[in-house]
Amino acid sequence: MLTLEQKQKIINFYHPQMEGKNNFSILKDNNKKYYFNGFNRTKMVLGFEQTFSSLEEAQKDPTTIIITPFEFFQEIFPQEFEKAFDKRTYDYLKTCKENLRLIDVKYGHDGEDFEKQFSYRIWADLTGSGVVEVGQLENGNWVAEFSYRCGIDDYVIVDMYFEKKPTKKDITTAKLIENIFDHLIFPRWEPFHMTFTCWECGSTVHWLDIPGSLEKKWECYQEKYCNCC
Ligand SMILES: [Zn+2]
Repeated sequence: MLTLEQKQKIINFYHPQMEGKNNFSILKDNNKKYYFNGFNRTKMVLGFEQTFSSLEEAQKDPTTIIITPFEFFQEIFPQEFEKAFDKRTYDYLKTCKENLRLIDVKYGHDGEDFEKQFSYRIWADLTGSGVVEVGQLENGNWVAEFSYRCGIDDYVIVDMYFEKKPTKKDITTAKLIENIFDHLIFPRWEPFHMTFTCWECGSTVHWLDIPGSLEKKWECYQEKYCNCC
């Protein structure tokens, strides 16, 4: 994602430092320290002395780097990042995403601007409306959009970006990966336990040692069953 040159520029300019296990700080505005949670996935703008009135304006500037603290953590402190996660789980989920040709997932209130070409009806555990709208973007990528409620009066619009036309199964798998990913990251201060004791045979098992598909592994993990005894 970041080039070596960009990384060096960030290090020289912002002097990033780890602050405990999952947090880091950068220096800006006359050496004032700003703290970030390394799991935060909200975009931040690194303008290198330039300030912008909006994200759109910042995006137009080629020297500005727009990155989430989560990506920053991963790129600037790769060793610490690996320690904060279970690398095996992280790599596995990354491969699952690549296999789906899932590029990105965005959460917001506005949604993507695209022409809806068709829709899937998907209920179980996925959408509030039961409908996922799908369409192709000008750059050739595909987007699948749905919304769900996340509070009494609040809702969130989810946009999933794929390099190919997503099937219904691709969308539910992508959502499952997102759920597992969030489970992996939250709660923020406690390491997530990737291993468990099988209630049936008593062996200690890493959730990725459970045989079967991603769906099967996750189901058994939640039941604390190794699926091989
Ligand atoms: Zn067992």
